[in-house]
Amino acid sequence: MDKLPIELPPFEPGWVWLVGAGPGDPGLLSLYALHALRAAEVVVYDALVDARVVQLARPGATLEYAGKRGGKPSAEQPDITAKLIRHARAGRRVLRLKGGDPFVFGRGGEEALALVAAGIPFRLVPGITAGIGGLAYAGIPATHRDTNHAVTFVTGHGTSGDVPDGLDWPALARGSPVLVLYMALKHLATITAMLRAAGRPADEPVAVISRATTPDQRVLESTLAAAAADVIRHGIEPPAIVVVGKVVRLRAGLDWLGALAGRALDPDPLGLGRRRDAG
Ligand code: SAH
Repeated sequence: MDKLPIELPPFEPGWVWLVGAGPGDPGLLSLYALHALRAAEVVVYDALVDARVVQLARPGATLEYAGKRGGKPSAEQPDITAKLIRHARAGRRVLRLKGGDPFVFGRGGEEALALVAAGIPFRLVPGITAGIGGLAYAGIPATHRDTNHAVTFVTGHGTSGDVPDGLDWPALARGSPVLVLYMALKHLATITAMLRAAGRPADEPVAVISRATTPDQRVLESTLAAAAADVIRHGIEPPAIVVVGKVVRLRAGLDWLGALAGRALDPDPLGLGRRRDAG
């Protein structure tokens, strides 16, 4: 990489770097991720990794698609880890590129443990997870002092393909003012019904952010009662992040991408009748 005033660790042959590629926009890659892309001889990437990111690989690198789409059984997972191990044992610099952050609903832990079992040295480079970066590109903070002091990341999809059992939805509904749901489009009707049954109001704001941070980003603003039907009516497609909670209302003030396209931003989106001053 061009000269930077920081020391980047060398990418040693025989190593696997497990790297988060972020939610889409290549500008959200970390310096380590870019460094790894420039150095790796083999890049094994997932379906959710943006094509523009893969194109940053060094010329001549072997690009191997290890795509799995949400919902499908992941019979390929052992193949993927076997492939990483094989390349590393052959003395290659192996970049395992995953959408968002490898350790957030990304199976990064499983792959890394397989490397540990095989005695392959690895480095983990976190990425910007869709549940934070995607929200930011929709103008929705994950936390905000006036709305929530906690946020919960939830998967809407278990290994069986159903809404994950083992999740205490009533407890989530009671205990978490903001829920950020990954892989939740398919079961959105069930999930929103469970949250309402547990006492969350029908008119609670919900945002659905599809293909966040890409040129195809779409944001749907809805309510807990209407979100599942609105997603279908508007043809919102995965990958998408669903946010439930009052933070969604901040979008009226913080939709900075919308502002670039001419949207007028409201400095008091929560209707508090005051403006925060700098402190
Ligand atoms: N490791 C990833 C998550 C993988 S699970 C991360 O940290 O972001 C796959 C889910 O991530 C998708 O179903 C969707 O809910 C979410 N997701 C990933 N990329 C996304 C994007 N660009 N826009 C919206 N949602 C995204």
